[in-house]
Amino acid sequence: MNAPTRFRRLAVFCGSSLGHDPRFADAARELATLLAGSGIGVVYGGASCGLMGVLADAALAAGGEVIGVLPRSLQERELAHRGLTRLHIVDTMHERKAQMADLADGFVALPGGFGTLDEFCEVLTWAQLGIHAKPCGLLNVAGYYDPFLAQVEHAETTGLMLLIHRAMILDATEPGALLARLHQFRPAPTASKWAEQIYP
Ligand code: AMP
Repeated sequence: MNAPTRFRRLAVFCGSSLGHDPRFADAARELATLLAGSGIGVVYGGASCGLMGVLADAALAAGGEVIGVLPRSLQERELAHRGLTRLHIVDTMHERKAQMADLADGFVALPGGFGTLDEFCEVLTWAQLGIHAKPCGLLNVAGYYDPFLAQVEHAETTGLMLLIHRAMILDATEPGALLARLHQFRPAPTASKWAEQIYP
């Protein structure tokens, strides 16, 4: 068993597909097992498909708490995972994202498509605006997120993103190293302070 943690739960965003590289599923399993072993619950999209299903199954198999938050429309298409600790059914995708964010003390993105990118960019945007002060981790498995990190760097060097906001992305290539970065995270000054002191 690992050392006690200040995180009760982390929200994990990840693909509803498996992807072609088996290292994506390996990383989902490894992260889930690490979180369960550290006494950290998982909040996720509630589905049984793709990397989401791999993550939930591995966390449950390791004795962890897994809370799914699923919109009614997806439940009706029978995508819901049936063995979770708890499944919250909500009316809209917006409600789902807000509830996942409320339930979690921090966020991690594994490889994924539009859904994962949308969720991760939204929590970063909320952090940038001071809506929350929770860590945002990116598990860059097998270089999957290298192009995304390059785009973020491009946004910063072309003056469309501040360096302190780019630095909100805590990236690592291994689940253990990522969890260590999340533990070390200390929130930056509030958005309103940034707005007064940094933006002209
Ligand atoms: P994607 O990365 O496009 O596969 O979308 C995955 C992310 O979006 C997950 O973190 C989920 O929260 C959400 N999502 C997308 N598709 C589904 C689905 N079929 N069932 C549940 N959640 C989904």
